[in-house]
Amino acid sequence: MKAYLKNIRQVVPYTPGEQPKQPGIIKLNTNENPYPPSPKVMEKLCQIDRLRMYPDPAVTELVEAIADYKGLSKDQVFVGVGSDDVLAMCFMTFFNSGLPILFPDITYSFYDVWAELFRVPFQTVPLDQDFKIVPEDYKRPNGGIIIANPNAPTGIFMPLDEVESIIAANQEVIVIVDEAYVDFGGTSAQCLLARYDNLIVVQTFSKSRSMAGMRIGYAMGSSVLIKALNDVKYSFNSYTMNQPSIVLGKASIEDDSYFKNTCESIKKTREWVKKELRELGFRFPDSKTNFIFAAHESVPAEDIFLAAKKENIFIRYFKKPRIDNYLRITIGTDEEMKKFIQFLKNYLDER
Ligand SMILES: *Cc1c(COP(=O)(O)O)cnc(C)c1O
Repeated sequence: MKAYLKNIRQVVPYTPGEQPKQPGIIKLNTNENPYPPSPKVMEKLCQIDRLRMYPDPAVTELVEAIADYKGLSKDQVFVGVGSDDVLAMCFMTFFNSGLPILFPDITYSFYDVWAELFRVPFQTVPLDQDFKIVPEDYKRPNGGIIIANPNAPTGIFMPLDEVESIIAANQEVIVIVDEAYVDFGGTSAQCLLARYDNLIVVQTFSKSRSMAGMRIGYAMGSSVLIKALNDVKYSFNSYTMNQPSIVLGKASIEDDSYFKNTCESIKKTREWVKKELRELGFRFPDSKTNFIFAAHESVPAEDIFLAAKKENIFIRYFKKPRIDNYLRITIGTDEEMKKFIQFLKNYLDER
């Protein structure tokens, strides 16, 4: 074996959901928003110029737009290339104590990948049998905590008083709350920032703002923590955010009624899909997200997943302990979900 091979960083990468491109498919596998971004975003897209020049390394326009919208000062907002980038920066910046960080055993499957990549020791904490996070389990020595709220892929929202109890019990370390799905019916932990300077709240434009393709995510926290994130970012790559993302992100923030309307449409469709799934023999934790994590009472999830794929309907299946009988179904348009439910009816009938 070549000696240098020993010194190559070994990582098991995160496996993103499939991105099939053929026309006519129903894509319910990666929690994208089925609606286009605001028309104001599309209008601005035609006016993008200055591509010749480097973008603003401080992302000022977008940082200010988000800070204004959230009622924070601009030194409390850090913007990155999707929340994946923001979270990776957070791992690098905040989890350096040498003690294991804590996160649930069933959660966003990028957390353990970043921990491995940045050599951050970690322990996973089992969810209870209803897939709920047990706050008491996070009250022990650790090097930091990250939880997704609502959690993925379960869709369960943990009430803010429980989130607060975790933050309050861990004031010597940084607690990150990943709120990728909070706009679909949860409540943000942003209101706790005033009381806890060890809190970082991370959100994204990818799901609720229909802009997964633009790659925009952000962290909110104390100016001390936000400065630390910026220092790491500038030590890595000063121009992470491209010019179109900055301009279009701002345009999205400025069209609040469109944002709220599309979130409402998805919630309405979700509640209808819950009712239909229940009638078809599925059970699932109550979702406050744009997806439902469901198991059928008698038919294995993998069979349904494969049968759906044959009909060009893509849903997500994780072949992992505890969740290998569940399907994660993204909420699409009413029309897409009607077709999906019809597929299930036919499939379950014929079996
Ligand atoms: C989708 C998702 C992200 C990442 O989203 P970006 O597209 O990188 O902003 C982060 N956390 C969770 C829990 C997600 O589901």
